[in-house]
Amino acid sequence: MTDLTPTPDRPGLHISKPSPSTPATASAVCHCGATATANGDNQVKALVDGWTTNHGPAHQQTGR
Ligand SMILES: [Zn+2]
Repeated sequence: MTDLTPTPDRPGLHISKPSPSTPATASAVCHCGATATANGDNQVKALVDGWTTNHGPAHQQTGR
């Protein structure tokens, strides 16, 4: 699993939900230097929404 964890060298968003009864966890590292982690389905969803709006591919859409 650690192979999938984002690092500054390999920015990205990783979500883990081992089973339907286990709370999801997520970690994200952006090439701009921002990092974030979340635990629990609701927090993970909020992280993903905020990340896709402000980081990751959003940088390309805004030119930075
Ligand atoms: Zn960013």
